Amino acid sequence: MTYEDKEIEKLWETIFATDKYRVMIGNIADNFPQEKSVKVDYEDINLYDVAFSAYILEEPDRCLEIAKRAVMNMVPNIDRPGQAINVRVCNLPRDAKVEIRNLRADHLGKLIAVEGLVRKVTTVKPRITYALFRCARCNSEIWVPQTGMIMKEPLMCNNPDGSCNKQATRFIEDLKASTWIDTQKVEIQERPEGLRGGSQPERLSGFMEDDIAGLITAGNSVTLNGILRSQEKSDRDKSTVFETFLDVVSIDFEKHEFEEIQITEDDEKEILAMSKDPALYRNIIRSIAPSIFGMEDEKKAIALQLFGGCHKVMDDGTNLRGDIHILLIGDPGVAKSQILRYMSMLAPRGVYASGKSASAAGLTAAAVRDDFGDGRWTLEAGALVLADKGLACIDELDKMTDQDRSSLHEAMEAQRISVAKAGINATLQCRCSMLAAANPKYGRFEEETSIYDQIELPPPLMSRFDLIMILTDKPNKAHDERLSSHILQTQMRGEARMIPEGTEIKGLDVEEILRQTNEIKPVYSIETLRKYVAYSKRIVPVMSPEAFKIIQESFLRIRNMGSGNSVPITARQLEGYVRLSEASARMRLSSIVSEQDANNAADLIEAYLNRIAGNGDGTYDIDKIATGVSAKSRGNIDVVRNIIRDFEGVIGLTKEDIINHGLNNGLEEHEIETALKKLVDVGDVYTPTSNCYKMA
Ligand code: ADP
Ligand code: MG
Repeated sequence: MTYEDKEIEKLWETIFATDKYRVMIGNIADNFPQEKSVKVDYEDINLYDVAFSAYILEEPDRCLEIAKRAVMNMVPNIDRPGQAINVRVCNLPRDAKVEIRNLRADHLGKLIAVEGLVRKVTTVKPRITYALFRCARCNSEIWVPQTGMIMKEPLMCNNPDGSCNKQATRFIEDLKASTWIDTQKVEIQERPEGLRGGSQPERLSGFMEDDIAGLITAGNSVTLNGILRSQEKSDRDKSTVFETFLDVVSIDFEKHEFEEIQITEDDEKEILAMSKDPALYRNIIRSIAPSIFGMEDEKKAIALQLFGGCHKVMDDGTNLRGDIHILLIGDPGVAKSQILRYMSMLAPRGVYASGKSASAAGLTAAAVRDDFGDGRWTLEAGALVLADKGLACIDELDKMTDQDRSSLHEAMEAQRISVAKAGINATLQCRCSMLAAANPKYGRFEEETSIYDQIELPPPLMSRFDLIMILTDKPNKAHDERLSSHILQTQMRGEARMIPEGTEIKGLDVEEILRQTNEIKPVYSIETLRKYVAYSKRIVPVMSPEAFKIIQESFLRIRNMGSGNSVPITARQLEGYVRLSEASARMRLSSIVSEQDANNAADLIEAYLNRIAGNGDGTYDIDKIATGVSAKSRGNIDVVRNIIRDFEGVIGLTKEDIINHGLNNGLEEHEIETALKKLVDVGDVYTPTSNCYKMA
């Protein structure tokens, strides 16, 4: 079906004559140019005329041009050349939605809707659409429409009876009186949840003009409605292969957090039944990476992380984060990366990234100047921003860049990232939980040294994690046997699953293999679990007095265990308790944090503190995590500092002398060396000549 221009105009006129649009256009007429777009809901067109609404998707350029004319006819007082009211069709139907990876030549020139996460935005820059020139001789006005990148000048004066006699060649541009619009270029990428198992997200550039420029920022989740266009790759060689970009007509922001996960009534019934199952916690743990053997505590923690505590806004406006951060530190080859990859796939909005990623934005965000913006500054979102409201799985955290190292604290605690550089002044949200993995300092844990000393992350960063799990890989006959059986069974099941159904193999019972390895099948499918998690986010549990008591007791118990003057646990860990217990309640879809929930949290925290900050005698020393210096070594530092101060003289004290004094004070040689190094590192002590130490 095709339409004549006249028919199209008629149709638009009828639509714009309805109450809703008459009021809207009247409003624009009064407030132009502060308001300059008619937002047309596609649904309205569809209700009015199905065939026409389909035609708009096919022939958007023509239809929208005519729509613009129709609106302009209704608003007579806008007369400056180039000034116009935009018609922005939004809320496109499902069948106009195209995934970025499915964009094809067929879509060129069509009106489509593309969903994605905003990865890059350039600064907003003005563009002249209609330039005003004045003839240098007769001063008459000449308007020249500007379409390309280079400013077009008038060829001759168009004033028929001016003094210049149409011979003038000099024109003066009047930039101030010309017509300008804002422009911005953005790049979106496919949403993580739309991706199948670890494939790389595809990207698409979009151009925004006029009042929709500057509306979105990196990390936003949007639907861009626009017309797909092509552009030659470069102007130098005439290629027949073109780049595509979206000429954006309108932007739809995402309305609900977990909108993309559809929960039907049947789903809801299933979810409510699941929540009543006494084996729920176990079943969920067994559904998390079942092909990975063991890791019981880690999987428990990760299960709680999936549900998360609740975000709170206090009376004074302070925000308390509800997201749980977990760090896995462990020997190589213990399936850290494997579990991260699995979780990035399982969690709604999971993003997997490595600390040593190649992108300029790294883990957080950056202002960069690159080809994308044609030399303009561009704000680029990193993994944590892209995982907003989801789970950021960050592998090899210890290999992250210095820039990330410094901005990660804010990202983890305040859950936002500020970028202020080159005219870009943005605060990006990263309300995500973080599941990170790192290797110990020397590649693998060494027996002799305490675990804490082998973690090479800055202490302020470490203290932002609610749980830090240590994974060691020590040969142990019983464990190795079970591990190897598990891995081999997984492989066997994998092989058996690949055999086409009904195939007979002599001497092999495929069905039996599948039955025997049934353990490896997750109890809940990924889809079910995702729905369950999405559903659970509706619940905001509140602490019961019993839970309050258990958490407080556990906290006080550990706090009292501090040896000497060390502070064994800080308020940060206390918040961790709360988050974990809330998550445990949420998992049961319970509005009350029960005794059991508090115990679940306390068990995990006590186990982790014991492992990482334990002094080996049942006492804890969280100072190691909070400041990087344990109470004992802080004592050592004081001793060594005093030695240098007391004996340094004019030329300082040699290392040998310091060690001798230290030994007399009951320290061991390696303790003295560590303390000395620390003093030099922080600048308390310096070396005037080599091997001589002096107070700074
Ligand atoms: P990491 O990142 O800790 O260095 P990987 O995740 O790359 O280790 O794991 C290495 C390989 O060892 C993976 O293929 C994984 O399947 C296997 N593996 C290690 N530990 C386990 C385990 N507990 N259960 C199952 N597979 C394991
Ligand atoms: Mg790894």
